[in-house]
Amino acid sequence: MTGKILEIEDVTVSFGGFKAINHLNFNLDYGELRVIIGPNGAGKTTFLDTITGKVQPTEGRVLFKGRNLRDIPEYAIARLGIGRKFQTPRVYLNLTVKENLDLACNKDKNVLSTLFRRPESSEYRKVGSLLETIGLVSRADLPAALLSHGEKQRLEIGMLVAQSPDLLLVDEPVAGLTDEETENVGNLLLALAESHAIIVIEHDMEFVRQIARKVTVLHQGSVLCEGTMDQIQNDPKVIEVYLGQ
Ligand code: ADP
Repeated sequence: MTGKILEIEDVTVSFGGFKAINHLNFNLDYGELRVIIGPNGAGKTTFLDTITGKVQPTEGRVLFKGRNLRDIPEYAIARLGIGRKFQTPRVYLNLTVKENLDLACNKDKNVLSTLFRRPESSEYRKVGSLLETIGLVSRADLPAALLSHGEKQRLEIGMLVAQSPDLLLVDEPVAGLTDEETENVGNLLLALAESHAIIVIEHDMEFVRQIARKVTVLHQGSVLCEGTMDQIQNDPKVIEVYLGQ
């Protein structure tokens, strides 16, 4: 697909009188990976909440694959193809890595039938390919509780991908990770970007440099500027906003 998967047109989100998002415009192409940065309180979380339907714009429109998301409930927006990963991993600690992925592949089906499915089914093959994508083949039969923090992050990203979203929203995936785990998560996101549009919110600038071709800087609920990491880092507006914190 070519063209825009996500169009945010002049969106404002007010909480009482306060505009957490203030006349924000943003576009994302099919297959694009974009990183959003910005100081605390810039509106990054509210930006994602607006895309997933957790909050409704006070003004403006959010279009996903050309469809206005106005008043569509959160669960229905997820089914349209938007998957969100929150900062802390939400995996089933007592289930194995494989079982976690299997459940995610069959979210709408009965849990017990999923756990006792026959090994030759197509879902099993899907789980096998997901295990390879997230680099956890050797951990497949371990309870998720025994994974490192970075492995849990990769498992949860795999669980999102299992639901075949077109757009992945990923909130600070490398907070608290070692350098090696950070690089693994970065490589996973780059691999997923071959077939998904992805928005990542991130503070770790080394990591942003590893994965981002284009970065959007939010400030006071609006887009301050967009560009490559080199353009952003040398932009006096960005320097002022970060130093003025
Ligand atoms: P960021 O993720 O960039 O740190 P947020 O989107 O969490 O920023 O918040 C942006 C601003 O909106 C902050 O000033 C925050 O206090 C305010 N805000 C966020 N959610 C609410 C809410 N539900 N009610 C009132 N103010 C909110």
